[in-house]
Amino acid sequence: MKYAYLFDIDLIERKKYPEFPKLPNHCLMKLSDYYKKKGYKVRLIYLPKYIPRKYESTNVYIGSALYSGNLVQFKKRLKLNQNIMIPIEKIKIGTPLDTCSKAEIPGIKCDYSEYDKMIQRDNIKLQWYPCNVGFLTRGCIRHCQFCINRERNQITEVNTIDEIYQKEGQPIYLLDDNLFESPNAVKHFNEIDEFMKNHKNIKISLQNGIDARNVTLEKLKALGKASKYFSTLHTAWDNVKNSFIFKNIIEIKKYSHARIKCYCLLGENIYSNEDFKKDILGFMYRYINLMKIGVQPINQLYEDDREEFKNKYWNLYTFFLKNYAFMKVSNMQTIYRKIPPNQKPIADKIVEMLEEFEWIITTPVGKIVEDENFDLKMKSIADYIEIKHYSAN
Ligand code: SF4
Repeated sequence: MKYAYLFDIDLIERKKYPEFPKLPNHCLMKLSDYYKKKGYKVRLIYLPKYIPRKYESTNVYIGSALYSGNLVQFKKRLKLNQNIMIPIEKIKIGTPLDTCSKAEIPGIKCDYSEYDKMIQRDNIKLQWYPCNVGFLTRGCIRHCQFCINRERNQITEVNTIDEIYQKEGQPIYLLDDNLFESPNAVKHFNEIDEFMKNHKNIKISLQNGIDARNVTLEKLKALGKASKYFSTLHTAWDNVKNSFIFKNIIEIKKYSHARIKCYCLLGENIYSNEDFKKDILGFMYRYINLMKIGVQPINQLYEDDREEFKNKYWNLYTFFLKNYAFMKVSNMQTIYRKIPPNQKPIADKIVEMLEEFEWIITTPVGKIVEDENFDLKMKSIADYIEIKHYSAN
């Protein structure tokens, strides 16, 4: 008997972040179907105790990790455990993007049964399972430097929503890398709309964001129709210098029926006090403008998931993000709200570094948002950080 050992590395190394993964691994489920059809016996490896001890050349060994930190941990485990005789190079390991090509052969479906067996056998919970997972499209053209998604140069169609919907009555999680930027985005959002009209009782979620760099009226209208079925859509405005993104987010907000959340990156390339000042100003500029138009910002401190990157202002960032009450437009909300007296010097330090712009974190957000000079104030920040200002009004 030939075996296909499929390693869900995020589950094997789950100890540190037990809430992840929340979904079964799409790539491994496709490979499971693929190898079963080729006559292999499939073994999903999701706990360290199930890692096979011996390597046999007739078997296949494939691992998938969404989080690179887990992959590092897994490699260490294999190296240190002397009972495991599988050379790491014999396991084809990568992100799903590396290992999925075979699984995209038409006709290969997700085989959920190995995850069902896992739950039955070891009572391991995945927060969003049972569900349907899949991609309408694969690939992204942006190649952002912090993203794993840089393998492909175009966005191609891979499945229809009917093909993804295998588990009747269960929610659908679309994992598309950049659906909104697909050349067929209008068609895909129209299909979602049509499909959901006939499946009113199921939930659907688009896991990755709406790329706000390129909006057209046609795409906005199609997104608007499909957005009725999503509770939340995510977007990102990572580099404050791309302030045209804000103009586009205003348009997306106008057409969307779903709540919009927007990722805002901060803490990248910070080497001096001036970098820190500009970075906090750039972040607050995005944060307050987004709050003004009713989009919820999500702060994302730059850090890789191996936790190796920390800039030298790290303690100021973590203090700021922990103590400043984000997500609320309130007249109570300033940097000094609710901080214990022993931490006041850290807040003072941040205030001091912001110099003439200290008001951005010492004035309650509610007052800034309601200020009759709101636009002038935001423009003064835009001028300082040298970006083009777009009015939220
Ligand atoms: S747009 Fe999103 S999916 Fe595409 S490379 Fe950037 S972060 Fe990754």
